[in-house]
Amino acid sequence: MNIVTVDNEKCKGCEFCMIKCPKKIMVKSSETNSTGYNYAVQIEPEKCTACGICYTMCPEAAITVSVK
Ligand code: SF4
Ligand code: SF4
Repeated sequence: MNIVTVDNEKCKGCEFCMIKCPKKIMVKSSETNSTGYNYAVQIEPEKCTACGICYTMCPEAAITVSVK
């Protein structure tokens, strides 16, 4: 299981990671960070291939991919 973590406070909710994830497992949280952005969260981590596309796409360097 590969875990993607998002630094909630860095995320601007741009959706790049959500659009580009081939597994469509990056989604927008219903929660907002302190600046009012709905940040990204990973769902269904068992589907994650650790391809790193979300990490590469993020303009805020908010994403970390942990390979398990
Ligand atoms: S590492 Fe790849 S499969 Fe996993 S959440 Fe990111 S874009 Fe999706
Ligand atoms: S690409 Fe980065 S800033 Fe944009 S929604 Fe995803 S985690 Fe947030």
